[in-house]
Amino acid sequence: MTWDLLLTGGTPGDVAIRDGRIAAVGGPPGAARAIIDVTGCLITPGLIDLHTHVGPGYWGIDPGPVAWRSGVTTWVDAGSAGAYTAAGLRAVARAADVRVHALLNISAVGLAGRTGESRDLANCDVALAIDTIQADRELFHGVKVRIDAETVGANGVEPLRRGLAAAEACGVPVMVHIGTAPPALDEVLGLLRPGDLVTHCASGIAAPLGPAVRDAAARGVLLDLGHGSGGFAFDVLEAQLDAGLRPYTISTDLHARSLHGPVFDLPTTMAKLLACGVALPDVITAVTAHPARALDLPGGSLTVGDPADLAIFEVREEPLTVVDAHRQTRVSPIRLVNRATYVAGRPLPPRLPAAPAPWIPLTDTQRAALARREHDLRALLATPIVDVDGLAEQFPRAFPAPILPRSDSLPRSEPRSS
Ligand SMILES: [Zn+2]
Repeated sequence: MTWDLLLTGGTPGDVAIRDGRIAAVGGPPGAARAIIDVTGCLITPGLIDLHTHVGPGYWGIDPGPVAWRSGVTTWVDAGSAGAYTAAGLRAVARAADVRVHALLNISAVGLAGRTGESRDLANCDVALAIDTIQADRELFHGVKVRIDAETVGANGVEPLRRGLAAAEACGVPVMVHIGTAPPALDEVLGLLRPGDLVTHCASGIAAPLGPAVRDAAARGVLLDLGHGSGGFAFDVLEAQLDAGLRPYTISTDLHARSLHGPVFDLPTTMAKLLACGVALPDVITAVTAHPARALDLPGGSLTVGDPADLAIFEVREEPLTVVDAHRQTRVSPIRLVNRATYVAGRPLPPRLPAAPAPWIPLTDTQRAALARREHDLRALLATPIVDVDGLAEQFPRAFPAPILPRSDSLPRSEPRSS
């Protein structure tokens, strides 16, 4: 058997790829058209980020410039699109070189704007949501409902009831976002079914630490990290871990306002769990097998026959200071550095990040860092990558260079008179 590609020397063993699929893991060595030495590296299934925003609108980002350097091969858009804006998300999913799946916002306007999408209940149309999900089961794997005071106004948990009705009809889970009350957190948690997800589960604002969150977890409601720009606090996570509650899935809520900090990317978010004492294998499971299971997504394991979505990480045992959404810091004992990311057996090529949209607030320090990065990139790319020693004469000449007369021996032309 000849493989298309063989990754050798990594953990959990050599991985062979053929026709875009995983052909062997730790198996007998075979000949390969290309061999890449990943000695000392961890090979994981392509990471699945269960809460991102890649659809058009206020929050959306392009996944490409982050995916290739972070190992995230499956991006779940969590509610950027509602029924009215699903076509825009579908176009993004089609054009992306990563896999994009989505949770449909119960509000048909989705997150075209900053918030407030469920203040008008006319937008929370159950029948329309069901039709939209059923029309594209490949893209939509669940329903997203954002429940906080700004989003729902005077509507309480009614948008969640409608989201649950749509999800029930389609046989998919609901992911509920929690934040500033009202509605009361306990009322929100009390409505959720086994398999539904609570994102921003370690939110410093909602602070789900009471008996309601324990009850929800006990009946099979899944906790999703959903870091975001305001949805994660170390002290809340630590209190939950002390109480025996651990996020089932670790997601970033990566969007235009969290990309430049405090989230940055999924490996950095994973380091925040490591900083709180969660073991590396558990952290990996929470970004691979668990999100795949939660939304019935393909991938999430190194199974022979599956598409070869893979991430290669250097696991550096060096301290990394990490920050939550409230500027609390902790130190991770491990730093995960992505070395390569494969989708269907093909490495994702480097992609440069675009400038943030003009409506995104940034600190002066973030702006200066972006300017510095642009300067460094320009300098890097403007520097010739090799000198003469790194070049071949691609088109050798048949004859030696003709010898021209020296310029001082040429006859001088008369100065022209004007
Ligand atoms: Zn979000």
